[in-house]
Amino acid sequence: MRIIENISEMQRLADTWRAGRERIAFVPTMGFFHEGHLDLMRTARKLGTKAVISIFVNPTQFAPTEDFESYPRDLQRDIDLSTAVGTDLAFVPRVDEMYPEGFQTYVNVTQVTENLCGMSRPVFFRGVATVVSKLFHAVKPHIAVFGQKDFQQLVSIRRMVKDMNMDIDIVGHPIVREQDGLAMSSRNTYLKPGERPAALRLNRSLKEAQELVDLGERNATVILKAVNDRLTTGGGATVDYARLCDPDTIEDVEVISGPTLLALAVWVGKTRLIDNRVLLLPA
Ligand code: AMP
Repeated sequence: MRIIENISEMQRLADTWRAGRERIAFVPTMGFFHEGHLDLMRTARKLGTKAVISIFVNPTQFAPTEDFESYPRDLQRDIDLSTAVGTDLAFVPRVDEMYPEGFQTYVNVTQVTENLCGMSRPVFFRGVATVVSKLFHAVKPHIAVFGQKDFQQLVSIRRMVKDMNMDIDIVGHPIVREQDGLAMSSRNTYLKPGERPAALRLNRSLKEAQELVDLGERNATVILKAVNDRLTTGGGATVDYARLCDPDTIEDVEVISGPTLLALAVWVGKTRLIDNRVLLLPA
């Protein structure tokens, strides 16, 4: 697998590939790979003739109080894992080349980023849209693959691509979970062994919410009460948010009348976990 650090070198290679009729499928990441990342890469491998990843812990999406410095990093391990799944190239830019002195241009997706993580992490989506836009300009992909684990992020990237007329197909990839149901995340390494039972309540509460819908419940307040009870009973978890939203607009829903996003962000000790499920009405 080839590794490129330099933006213009990446752009030149992308131009060469495009001239040779290659189809570039791209997976942007912050590294510290788990099976979820690798699955996105396998999808990119299938969809394109060149599979490219980026590894970049993006400072502009972290607030000063957040974990930018301590975010887990292991470049050599990431290179080995992505090589093993057949990735052609890793773009690994340096922070000072992505954000040189004088940098002052940001991409701001508005409505769909206001709710959920946009409420608790005010600079997050501006940072994500800005870096993804810059990475797109560097890698020049035909296709980009994003995980549904970060559902609101996927919706906001689709919005940005549409609004900015970027000629890129955005592909959503289902959430990859551990055997016990915990959604995979690089931040799961922060969890202490005793915190696992509380962490597992996220997926459990998502399942139970679907069961309530299957039994005929349509009232968001009732479902969210059950979700909050499940998340907090037993202790060790503080709910940042648990909301039912329209999966397209990310606006709150009061009565379920079609596919509805149940989105969770929960602090388990010092770890903020997110998870979600699109609740479906019985056929
Ligand atoms: P990150 O390195 O956390 O920024 O994630 C890079 C990409 O992997 C994003 O598109 C995430 O949504 C996706 N991703 C992370 N964890 C998972 C997971 N458990 N299942 C599916 N996609 C994931």
